[in-house]
Amino acid sequence: RLDSPRFDNSAVDGYGVRADDGRMPRRVVREVGAGDEPGPAIGPGEAVRIFTGAAVPPGVDAVAMQEDCRADGRSVELNEALRPGANLRRRGEEYREGDVLLPAGTPINPAVLSLLAANGVSSFRFRRPPHVVIVSTGEELGELGGEVAPWGVYNSNGPGLAAAILSLGSWFGQPMTYQVGDRAEATKETLRTALHEADILITTGGVSVGDRDLVKDALEELGVERVFWRISMKPGKPVFFGVRDKKLVFGLPGNPVSALMAFHLLVRPAFRRMMGHEQALETWPARLKSAIDKREGRAEFVRGRIDGGGDVLEVAPTGRQASYMMLGTAEADCLIHLPTGPGRFEAGEIVRVSLLRWGLI
Ligand code: AMP
Ligand code: MG
Repeated sequence: RLDSPRFDNSAVDGYGVRADDGRMPRRVVREVGAGDEPGPAIGPGEAVRIFTGAAVPPGVDAVAMQEDCRADGRSVELNEALRPGANLRRRGEEYREGDVLLPAGTPINPAVLSLLAANGVSSFRFRRPPHVVIVSTGEELGELGGEVAPWGVYNSNGPGLAAAILSLGSWFGQPMTYQVGDRAEATKETLRTALHEADILITTGGVSVGDRDLVKDALEELGVERVFWRISMKPGKPVFFGVRDKKLVFGLPGNPVSALMAFHLLVRPAFRRMMGHEQALETWPARLKSAIDKREGRAEFVRGRIDGGGDVLEVAPTGRQASYMMLGTAEADCLIHLPTGPGRFEAGEIVRVSLLRWGLI
C-alpha cells in the first residue's frame, strides 16, 4: 500500500545539510523531529537540526551524525565532509506502492505481521484453519481433573496433543477433545461425531493388533480409506493414516511418547505444509556424543538434547527411552533420526536431528 520509506528521512540524530557545502560551518535554521512537517528548502550554508525518522526538507541531501559534529545551537561544523545521500533513507528505496511484497500463502510470523502493520494493513484474508478433533481411546483412561481408577492411568495424550496443536500457533483454536473406552459401538459413535466435526482427526490408542484395538476397524467402517497402517519405525510403529474426502485421519499409538513423537514426525509436518511452510520437517546435522544401538532395518527416533556450544551441534540421548517414559521426552529438545539401515551409531558420527521446538503453553 505504501512506499517504504514513505518519504525521504533521516537515519540518525544529527544535522541535515547540503553535502556540497563541504566542511564550512552552517547556520542551523530550525529543528525537525520525527512526525514534524519538514518545512521549506534550506539554502547554501544552512542546516537543520534533525532526528531519526524525521522527514528531510528539500535541499537537505545528507545528514551528519551528531557525534561527528560540533554545534553550539546556532551553528554546526562537521568533522568531515559528507557524500550526498549520507545517512538518508530515500523514499521507496526498500519497496514501492504496488509492489508484491510476499507471495500468497506466506505464513504470518511476527516479522510478516509487522510488515503488514507498517503498510497500514489491519485486516487480511487468510486460509481457514482446520478444525482439529482429538479422540483418546482406552478403557483405562481417567479424565484429567477427575478420578483415576486403581488400575487406570490419566489421559495424558489428549492434553499433550491439544497443547501440541496450540503450540503450532494462534492460527489454530483450541482443538475439540473426546475420550472413549474400548467398546466397539461407543468407539464408532464417538468417531462418527468426531469425523463429522473434524477437518483433521487425531486418535490415540486402539490402533495396534490387540483384540481391543477397535479404532482402525471403526474408522474403516465409517468410510475412512486407509492410506497406510504401521510403519517400520520406533516409536510410533502402529500408526494409521487414512482419508475421507478431504478429511485427514491420523491414528496415533496410545503410548504417550509414541503419540507425541508420531505427532512430531507425521502430523506436524502436514500442518506445516497447510500453514504455508516449505519445509515439512527440518533436520540438522549433529555429532553424536555417545554410541546408540538400535535394531537393524528399522528407523529409530531417540529423544535427545542438543549442545550448541561448540562449532558443530552435538547431541546426546536423554535418559531412558521406553515409549511410556515421558520424562525423557519432557527433558528432550530434539529427536535424533537414526535411519533404517545400520544397527549401531558410534560416538562421533554425524546424524540428523529435528528440533522439538514446542511453543510454550
Ligand atoms: P494402546 O495403543 O491403546 O494399546 O495403548 C498403549 C499404552 O498406552 C497403554 O499402556 C495405554 O494405557 C497407554 N495409553 C493409551 N492411551 C493413553 C492416553 N490417552 N493417555 C495415557 N496413556 C495412554
Ligand atoms: Mg488402548
